[in-house]
Amino acid sequence: MNSPDLFTPLDLGFCKIKNRVLMGSMHTGLEESVDGFEKLAKFYADRAKGGVGLIVTGGIAPNFAGKTHPMATKLCYWWQVKKHKLITDAVHENGSKICMQILHTGRYAYHPLSVAPSKIKSPITPFTPFKMSKRSIRKTIKDFANCASLAQKAGYDGVEIMGSEGYLINQFICRKTNKRTDSYGGSYENRIRFALEIVEAVKKKVGENFIIIYRLSMLDLVEEGSSFNEVLELAKKLEGLGVHIINTGIGWHEARVPTIATSVPRGGYTFVTEKIKKYLTVPVVTVNRINDPITASDIIKTQKADMISMARPFLADADIVNKIKDNKTQEINTCIGCNQACLDHVFKNKVASCLVNPMAAHELDFKKRDDFTAKKIIVAGAGPAGLSFAIEAQRLGHDVTLYERSDSVGGQFNLARSIPGKEEFHETMRYFNNQLKVLGVKVITGTELTKELIDKLDYDAIVFSTGVRPFIPKLKGADLPHVFTYEEVITRKKIPKQRVAIIGAGGIGFDTSEFLLHREDENFYEFWGIDKDMSARGGLIDAKVKPPKREIYLMQRKATKHGKGLGKTTGWIHRMSLKKHQVNFLKDLEYKEINEKGLIYIQDGKEHQLEVDNIIFCSGQRSVNELYEHYKLSGKAHIIGGAKLAQQVDAKRAISEAFKLAYSL
Ligand code: NAP
Ligand code: SF4
Repeated sequence: MNSPDLFTPLDLGFCKIKNRVLMGSMHTGLEESVDGFEKLAKFYADRAKGGVGLIVTGGIAPNFAGKTHPMATKLCYWWQVKKHKLITDAVHENGSKICMQILHTGRYAYHPLSVAPSKIKSPITPFTPFKMSKRSIRKTIKDFANCASLAQKAGYDGVEIMGSEGYLINQFICRKTNKRTDSYGGSYENRIRFALEIVEAVKKKVGENFIIIYRLSMLDLVEEGSSFNEVLELAKKLEGLGVHIINTGIGWHEARVPTIATSVPRGGYTFVTEKIKKYLTVPVVTVNRINDPITASDIIKTQKADMISMARPFLADADIVNKIKDNKTQEINTCIGCNQACLDHVFKNKVASCLVNPMAAHELDFKKRDDFTAKKIIVAGAGPAGLSFAIEAQRLGHDVTLYERSDSVGGQFNLARSIPGKEEFHETMRYFNNQLKVLGVKVITGTELTKELIDKLDYDAIVFSTGVRPFIPKLKGADLPHVFTYEEVITRKKIPKQRVAIIGAGGIGFDTSEFLLHREDENFYEFWGIDKDMSARGGLIDAKVKPPKREIYLMQRKATKHGKGLGKTTGWIHRMSLKKHQVNFLKDLEYKEINEKGLIYIQDGKEHQLEVDNIIFCSGQRSVNELYEHYKLSGKAHIIGGAKLAQQVDAKRAISEAFKLAYSL
């Protein structure tokens, strides 16, 4: 047979999946919202319409103990089936298949009735689980089977049994979390018994013609995790039991190694799937940081996996599969791996969305006005807010002209994409530039909108997205020549020397530190201690970190932990990365003055002279909004993004405001 490609159907015998793209499981928070299933039906229907072969839903608990939190959705009664039908019908009408993920969280549950193989608290949840009795184990296995059977009644094409990421099944398998001495603990054979009995029970209940996917933890990335041979042994046993597809699981939630953040190379964990696949005949899915057509196609062509799974890329662009198929890859709105609007929302019990596509999981909230009339709109400033607004407004049918003072569009995106690990912002700029062209937005760069110019223009509405400028606090010596702003540094107008103090440890302070410390020769796997040979248990080896490029002092006045305000799912990565680079975290201090030698600060009532070559201000921003102030009473002016409010502005808020304004005009 010729090498398959992304659009070669996957034949499971009793059913055919139309292509090799699986939309991976992603909890959206709609599962628990009012009208959530109607919204989910639209969310999944759009992705099905967008061409995906197989969808796996967000995790649904098989019983109360297995819920992520007390309000999370479970499927264990017949009367819960009806609402799931909304989803399955919507997906089938649009030509895709859909499996429901059965997820029992075990000790990762955020409620006091959590259960686990042993009474051992996880480092990422506050509750100590109850140890499961044998009776409770037997009941849980039945609950999995019952849940699968109800999913079948609801019209799903199959189920995915969640056996990875450190959830209950994984907790049974790993020695670290399973200290039992009965037939479910001790030897490996005993520790995988729970997983195998669940699969057997599910199969018995649902029969042969119902897809069973098992998400297998192939690289635990925690101490005492499974060895390669153990993973393979389980994979072969699952194959023997008649599982139809094995999906790859990488890293427990408590693992201190990045698995999906932007800093993970594209397709960076496919080596794991590839290694296991060689020993199996059952189709194997690969996952994690596959967000572009080239990586995805290459994996299938070179037969490293039989299917690729993407989850977040379907939030960023519902039509990604059709755009690949129709050779419109330049039009793909690429997931940048930031987690800011998806996972970070879910962990705060907010409905997920997407930084680059605020419509994701909010499809029903964005509707063109019934009384829509096309307007002539001027936009001042082509940063994230201005670009997003211009594109969405033009897409809706308005006639938009976008003015930008500098020679190119992008604004703060141009800073962000210079930061190591944030290179994916290049894709966002590629998408924006493409959409400006495809939609025919008039773009005028190198022209500053002034009052004189605005007064000569004919328009129905004017949108000020004039952005921000760095804020320089009033501090003696702030105007000395060795003092820079983050903007001067990141745009390489100023190059700091060896010893650097950074004033302000927010997102930009962290980014600037990364920028100054980055070494091209740093290897992601060595830096985080990942065993690419898979010969070490759990896939962990000692990290190898190269000496830091500079001596950095990252300073803040607050007494709290550095980076506390960063994203829940990525902040720890930034903190660990800077620690590994020996950054000095200074906090709970006051700045006194900057002098020739460096910086004087006061801590614990004592004055300290910090001897550094350069000082960089990363102390926040000020809005650029003078023009708006002039026009705000005209009845035609609108303001969005950093120009509206500089405090805590980021691309997520800027783009979201832009979308909302576009749909409201
Ligand atoms: P920020 O998060 O507000 O941080 C600025 C820091 O400067 C503050 O934490 C503050 O710390 C310090 N500061 C404020 N006023 C000061 C003064 N008068 N003198 C000395 N220090 C002062 O702003 P940012 O770092 O510029 O980031 C802007 C936005 O982009 C934020 O929403 C941020 O979350 C987002 N962003 C996020 C990331 C990420 O998640 N990786 C990356 C980049 C940007 P003290 O008061 O404690 O000194
Ligand atoms: Fe991707 Fe960021 Fe959107 Fe999440 S919020 S889907 S990581 S671009």
